[in-house]
Amino acid sequence: MKIVLASSNIHKVQEINEIVRDFAPDLSLEFILPPEGFNPIEDGETFEENSYIKAHSAWELGKTWTLADDSGLCIDALGGKPGIYSARYAETPKLRIERVLNELDGIKNRKAHFSCAMTLLNPKGETEFKFQGICSGEIIKEARGVNGFGYDPIFLPEGYDKTIAELSEEEKNKISHRGNALRAVLDYLRKKV
Ligand code: IMP
Repeated sequence: MKIVLASSNIHKVQEINEIVRDFAPDLSLEFILPPEGFNPIEDGETFEENSYIKAHSAWELGKTWTLADDSGLCIDALGGKPGIYSARYAETPKLRIERVLNELDGIKNRKAHFSCAMTLLNPKGETEFKFQGICSGEIIKEARGVNGFGYDPIFLPEGYDKTIAELSEEEKNKISHRGNALRAVLDYLRKKV
């Protein structure tokens, strides 16, 4: 079965297909990019709302099974920021990390979590399943590691002494917010098909 992934990011499609191959080879699922013209206006106030907006926008183009995710970093001491603004917290990934580290300067409570909301729509455009995956941890004081993307170099997952950017892709997928959410979606599909 092919499922449209409501994203224009081919790397995300590849990452998700890798998790599927590892976790659910029996399902013979393939995630594919949406048809041309996918350009949602992500003006929701939560990850969940934005994932629905993306899913519905891609569904309108293809009218088939569609999955969307929306994710970001939430920092306790910053009242949950950058949250849904994670991708636009500053101009470049490096500046976004700098902004977070500056805002946490002198603050003891470094607790944070990544969150990923997924929405699966069926071919009728109805919400078939939704789930929010979490990865808890803390923000360290200096960036470390070169793997991954975004805020990975400053995020130490709970129980680890390496940042996500120091983990392999396989290790990240096992504990990440996106991996957790996707496994819930795959469990749902396994029961359904
Ligand atoms: P999106 O939902 O994939 O568009 O992600 C929104 C933003 O959240 C990204 O641009 C990153 O800044 C941040 N983010 C989401 N997931 C991750 C992750 O796994 N590692 C690091 N940063 C992430």
